[in-house]
Amino acid sequence: MSENYEDVIIGLETHIQLSNLKTKFFCGCNSNYYGKEPNSHVCAGCLGFPGILPSINKKAIEFATRLALALECKINKFFYFFRKQYYYPDMARNFQLTLYNKLGGKAFADGGIVPIKINGIKKNIQLNRIHLEEDPARLVHKGSIKSSPYTLVDFNRSGIALIEIVTDPVITSPVEAREYLNQLKSIVQYTGISDLNIEGTCRVDANISIKGSARVEVKNINSFKEVERALKWEIQRHRHAIKRGKIIIQETRGWDEKRRITFEMRKKEFEEDYRYFPEQDLPIIEIDDNFIDNIKKEMPEMPSERMKRFQKECNLSEFDAEILVLDKDMADFFEEGISSEKSFGSEEYKQYCNWLMGDLSRWLNDNSKSITETKLTPKILVDLINTINNGKITGKIAKTLVDDMMKGIEIQEILKKSGKQRISDENRITKVVREVIEENPKIVEDTKKNPKAIQALIGKCMAKTKGQLDPEITKEILLKLIK
Ligand SMILES: [Zn+2]
Repeated sequence: MSENYEDVIIGLETHIQLSNLKTKFFCGCNSNYYGKEPNSHVCAGCLGFPGILPSINKKAIEFATRLALALECKINKFFYFFRKQYYYPDMARNFQLTLYNKLGGKAFADGGIVPIKINGIKKNIQLNRIHLEEDPARLVHKGSIKSSPYTLVDFNRSGIALIEIVTDPVITSPVEAREYLNQLKSIVQYTGISDLNIEGTCRVDANISIKGSARVEVKNINSFKEVERALKWEIQRHRHAIKRGKIIIQETRGWDEKRRITFEMRKKEFEEDYRYFPEQDLPIIEIDDNFIDNIKKEMPEMPSERMKRFQKECNLSEFDAEILVLDKDMADFFEEGISSEKSFGSEEYKQYCNWLMGDLSRWLNDNSKSITETKLTPKILVDLINTINNGKITGKIAKTLVDDMMKGIEIQEILKKSGKQRISDENRITKVVREVIEENPKIVEDTKKNPKAIQALIGKCMAKTKGQLDPEITKEILLKLIK
């Protein structure tokens, strides 16, 4: 059943850790805390001790500028931080340092767009603003938050620089939300400010309402697939409630991934609850054109530019190029492979792309891995394509090599070990063909009336050799001997 989403209004707030910074936002602690011992990356500053003054990480401002340029936002030339006050175990100082676009404050940048495409239809998702703020500490529970007998606090995350990307309420379906997030992730990957393959580097808050009804926020969803699921659930929940004459209340909900339902967290706080006021321990930050120009000059290539280049230089179709560039690691892999083999031309580029997007992507999906988490090298795929093209193996056999290729084993080695080389030696083929003719007199008889029956005999030859015979030569020899 296809849902009708005409009355649905969705806005997304995506929080991305600037994981490629070396240090935290307002202190010198190492920001690479992923998988490290809890509370090992901390200092008096990010533990909230009194009297410690923050100092700002300039690189964080550079990274934000890079993203703002990539998203075509309008960068504000001066801004200052606010204290957002709340009392909670994850917030050692009892306030969070953040930008705020009210009370005279400004976002880091306003506007911007993320282009998406669904079923061939293009749309620009309009952004409202991008913000900078610090991440609170991480609360760890045993089992679920509801049943855990205690809460542990890990301050390694406290003070990590976050960038928040806020859309206008212009997203009209859960599928559109997911596609927007995929494209945003791609752009962020290309800017090099964050490695979104690391778990926990990206969290999404989704605002959703049915036209004429109150807005509900679903907080802290960890994956794009879950965002889509949570939105679908919420739309259903709102529709049921409205049908039964109930009123949707404005509130903040959580998403339970296991049970796949949202649950009530708290009634929506209002902004005045946070008692925002300007941070006096940090200066007003001014950005001049020179600063922006320097970052512009060093901007890495963006996915849309790379797509056009792949179309032009490698003769890839728009469709292929578009999918290929989405994952930067995949596109890097493609580029390294095809440029290492001088004999490759358009045909081979297409083959290389097809392998990456087809069998290899399928394997990665099935095993929930990214290409950089395997030992496959661009050169192994080059060798595979050369081995297919010079007739040493059939495409069908090639598909059976993927497991070993992912372990980083060279093609020649796999073939030597498994004996899967294609057989094109006429004497060996003739021997197999003779056996098959002898064992299947009825099919041989059939081929005299119906030439298509030859396929059945080719199939029998293949079955005897696990598909290693060269099909063309086998067919020739069969025809010759039957005559
Ligand atoms: Zn620190």
